[in-house]
Amino acid sequence: MPKVVVVGGGFCGLVAAKRLLRKGFEVVLVDPKADFEFTPSVYKAIFNPAYGRKITIPYSGALPGAGIVKGLATGIAGSSVLVASRKIHFDFAILCAGGSTPVPGFKGVFVIKRLADISRLRERLAKVDDAVICGGGQVGIELSAELARHGKNVTVLHAADRLIERSPERAGRLAEARLRKLGVEVCLKEKVVKIENGTVVTEHRRLRSSCIFWCIGVKPVTGFLKSAGLLQDSRLHVNDFLQTSRSTVFAGGDIAEAGVEKTAQNAAIQGSVIAENIIRLSGNLPLKKYRRRPTPLVIDLAGCGMFVWGSFVVASPLLSPLKLLVEAKEMFALRH
Ligand SMILES: Cc1cc2nc3c(=O)[nH]c(=O)nc-3n(C[C@H](O)[C@H](O)[C@H](O)COP(=O)(O)OP(=O)(O)OC[C@H]3O[C@@H](n4cnc5c(N)ncnc54)[C@H](O)[C@@H]3O)c2cc1C
Repeated sequence: MPKVVVVGGGFCGLVAAKRLLRKGFEVVLVDPKADFEFTPSVYKAIFNPAYGRKITIPYSGALPGAGIVKGLATGIAGSSVLVASRKIHFDFAILCAGGSTPVPGFKGVFVIKRLADISRLRERLAKVDDAVICGGGQVGIELSAELARHGKNVTVLHAADRLIERSPERAGRLAEARLRKLGVEVCLKEKVVKIENGTVVTEHRRLRSSCIFWCIGVKPVTGFLKSAGLLQDSRLHVNDFLQTSRSTVFAGGDIAEAGVEKTAQNAAIQGSVIAENIIRLSGNLPLKKYRRRPTPLVIDLAGCGMFVWGSFVVASPLLSPLKLLVEAKEMFALRH
């Protein structure tokens, strides 16, 4: 059977790898971590360390029979993925190394992404009562709610005139009302221009804090592809079948320019389409088009759930368990 090398065991990579393994492909996963982490719930492990176990799956358990290479891919040369001094040959490759949240030159700022980020943060939070969150997108508002629920004095600074501004206006208003109810100070039209010596500087104010979070922007992890000849303007573009400029090299999730929001749901859907297309390509069958469509957004604001799908927005304490249900369903599917 053809050999598929999957670079990155996040939502896209794990979904694709599982499907291909089931179809009898030889699969090798390259990732510096030993476990999959359910990123959307990582912040819940800040005050509840045991939660970390609930949202991780060892790759060895999730992908029985796959080769697991623990390391960072450093490049692609011909039909091989490079990992340190190793060359791993592939018939097909899937590039899904995700995205990072770059902090533009500011020191001493926390970023919430992986469980490994959490332990240093936990020590800091044990000593301080306040926090400043830069960015009022989904990550920023969920984190604010979680910190406020645990008694911290939280301020959110957001450049736009409403929170989660890519969602309908009502969603932003409801999120703001919920955060204010939790005691969070919400400051809109406050673009952070610099952070120095524990002070966040916006165009209108200066805020001192020993616990500053950066929750702005996602940058695709494409650095390792610089000399692979796959990038255009440093971006990894894909066609309607999620192929890069090489027909045997696919890409999905946060790393790829697929024309949709960079979310876990979209990454998982793309992983499934990529696996399907590798199966079809191997069998000389026509490829399946990736259909771009809006996916629902599920937000948890410490006891109040919000569901956003296109222009439909609903928020209620009754929806609070919704994100937990999504997490349980996805974790079950990825474990089995
Ligand atoms: C705090 C937080 C909360 C979020 N909440 C939500 C939410 O509620 N709903 C939602 O839909 N989305 C949410 N997102 C976004 C979502 O997590 C991402 O869109 C999703 O994880 C992207 O999946 P992916 O497979 O592209 O990459 P990832 O899940 O990021 O996985 C990438 C993998 O690649 C590995 N990797 C990186 N570089 C290399 C390399 N050079 N070689 C090999 N492996 C490498 C990494 O270790 C990682 O395992 C959230 C993100 C964050 C940070």
